[in-house]
Amino acid sequence: MRVSYTQLDTYKQCPRKFKFYIDRAPQDFSRTTALRFGTAVHKALEFAYAKRYQAPPVERVIAYYRKIMDEETDPDVRELFIRGIPALERYIAANDPRKLRVLAVEQKFVVPLTDAHEMVGVIDRLDMLPDGSFEIIDYKSGKIPDARKLSENWQIAIYQFVKQQQLQTKRIQVSLVYILYDGHKLTYRFGRDELGRIREAILRQVAEMERDTTFPTHVTSWCATCPYQPICPAWSHQRAAREVVTGKEREEELVDIQARVDRLLEIMAQQKRLAEEAAALKQALAQYAKGRNLTRLFSDLGTVSLSFRRRAAYDVVQLVEVLREDLLRKIVKTVDIKKLERALPYLKPEERERIEHFRREEERASVVARPRMDEDTEALLTP
Ligand code: SF4
Repeated sequence: MRVSYTQLDTYKQCPRKFKFYIDRAPQDFSRTTALRFGTAVHKALEFAYAKRYQAPPVERVIAYYRKIMDEETDPDVRELFIRGIPALERYIAANDPRKLRVLAVEQKFVVPLTDAHEMVGVIDRLDMLPDGSFEIIDYKSGKIPDARKLSENWQIAIYQFVKQQQLQTKRIQVSLVYILYDGHKLTYRFGRDELGRIREAILRQVAEMERDTTFPTHVTSWCATCPYQPICPAWSHQRAAREVVTGKEREEELVDIQARVDRLLEIMAQQKRLAEEAAALKQALAQYAKGRNLTRLFSDLGTVSLSFRRRAAYDVVQLVEVLREDLLRKIVKTVDIKKLERALPYLKPEERERIEHFRREEERASVVARPRMDEDTEALLTP
């Protein structure tokens, strides 16, 4: 089986999207704007840095880019493409192709991952740096992400892994270049353990992809730009609703169902507001009772009982940083402190020590309200 980073990433976003992708399902062209823009920027940069074009002047690169842009007719899309012109000019001026040692552009690769799997892909650019080491460049046409997450970036890990195998050297770094942000560069060099860990994670995901027979939909913010949304089952009711709304009249059943959906959403919003209000009240009552050493508070409607216990608490953000092992990650993903506490005795002493470093005790108040449900109370509670 051949697997690419795009496939891995698409499956992670949504298994159904991956299935559409490998089946070459029809795409909604209007939802591929970002992709088309990215492709145009990549083509322009290939033209600027490929040896065979012998470092064309920037005006020629821009003319080449404009030619691709002219195929776009939608004014909004053209506006995005126009932003690319000064960005490309600035990037090429700051990274003069005649002064760089560019070894390859748009270089395809196929490397074995296991006996049964191959990793395939394309590396945007490979440079040799003045000290003789190598730099893999990957152009990005989107926003700059959180640099702290680079160590988890499968794409650049794959590129480093591939080039290390091909060039038989470890003196390789990978840089993500954000063209729309003055060519801002995020650079990373993976250690052996990091690459090994990511390789294991990739193999686990590949196994999952091979086992998958249902390809469930995964509705997230990615749906907004998914080119398969018009054929996706997760959106079929919305499509049906739109078709009817734009037709002569709405079906009675549809109107009824939509009213119920609206009502359920309203109730849930109310529940959330009430839960927040209840939590704030409980906190205030617990504070009052603790200050006066009280365990019960009374009103005309009933009682509120309070108890105070010391329980384990962790700084979860820091804990996640520490936990690298898969078993531990799964536990922390759920932020289930009880499970974590139960697992502690089974961990290696050094692991336990690192986790316990973030352990503290905090006091939690348990507040239970019991309304008196006699007739008088019910009358009071009823608005
Ligand atoms: S629209 Fe959303 S749920 Fe449907 S395939 Fe695309 S990403 Fe998945």
